[in-house]
Amino acid sequence: MTAINTLPIFIGHNDTLLSLYLPERGEGRSFFTRSDIGHIDLPRAREGGMAGGIFAIFVPQDPLKQPLRRNEVIKTDTGYEVPLASGIEQSYAQRVTMSMMTSLFDIERESREKVKVVRTVDDLTTCLYEDIFTAILHFEGAEAIDPGLDALEVFYKAGLRSLGVVWSRPNAFAHGVPFGFPRSPDTGPGLTVAGRELVRACNRLGIMLDLSHLNEQGFWDVANLSDAPLVATHSNAHTLCPTTRNLTDEQLDAIKASKGIVGLNFAVTDLRDDGWNDSDTPIEVMVRHIDYLVERLSIDCVGFGTDFDGATIPQEISDVTGLPKLINALRESGYDDNALSKLAYKNWVRILSETWK
Ligand SMILES: [Zn+2]
Repeated sequence: MTAINTLPIFIGHNDTLLSLYLPERGEGRSFFTRSDIGHIDLPRAREGGMAGGIFAIFVPQDPLKQPLRRNEVIKTDTGYEVPLASGIEQSYAQRVTMSMMTSLFDIERESREKVKVVRTVDDLTTCLYEDIFTAILHFEGAEAIDPGLDALEVFYKAGLRSLGVVWSRPNAFAHGVPFGFPRSPDTGPGLTVAGRELVRACNRLGIMLDLSHLNEQGFWDVANLSDAPLVATHSNAHTLCPTTRNLTDEQLDAIKASKGIVGLNFAVTDLRDDGWNDSDTPIEVMVRHIDYLVERLSIDCVGFGTDFDGATIPQEISDVTGLPKLINALRESGYDDNALSKLAYKNWVRILSETWK
């Protein structure tokens, strides 16, 4: 085995599969062809030093049930509110999920061993050493899973290794946090009875639980139940940007106590102190969140989440090819090689090693 000779970057969350799946988002682009659309394809990932990441399957609202209705942003005097999206049906969610999973497996097959859907820690470390692009299968919301959890076992066998209990809409397991700024994440009740069973089952199987998009009560319910490190794949510090999607100091302390991780979200709405959806946001703001998270959690419990292909990100970063600019900015502000390697991939590898069975 040869040593890793560059700084591989592993990211905790992206919506690239959705961009490839929905023509209105990705305009039919291919993962293998360099594009100007969206944030990640394989050529751009290679250029930016991205070694792999957690690939989300997000099921959009059912167009037959809610034709062309988008989340409505309501401006307020100090920010914005978005009403909580309505839930989606399990049968619809399962159909779309299977279709998007197949598209990921198609990418793996067509890549001729350049891309691997990783299911074990051994595979993950081998891919990092051998420079094989890593994709870890994640569901952003558990709508495709029945409350009796039969489908969880089947999806696990197919490769599911990371699960967000809920997106920002209610499902059988939890309620989800609506988007809002400035606002506390304490927006409603926590896990349902089925949600508690889901947490126990994920612990038993070794599926990483993602707390991003849970409201605060849901977060504490998982924190009290789960025996795994607490993970928020794409959330930032509420003190610096008080959106409902970010984590309060108390939540950060609980993540630290569990030796968990927070993945920096590049979404400008979750970075900026005015919460505004403005891509003219300096990299310095990202560094400030990293500084805050590292101060609060330690250098061992912070990584990159990104939310590539799922959000408006700072225009200086622009897409995955901009990752080295963030690394350079962190280096200039005092992070040494050891610290940067932890932020870039070592912390994610540790979390997955401690979570997967
Ligand atoms: Zn998200």
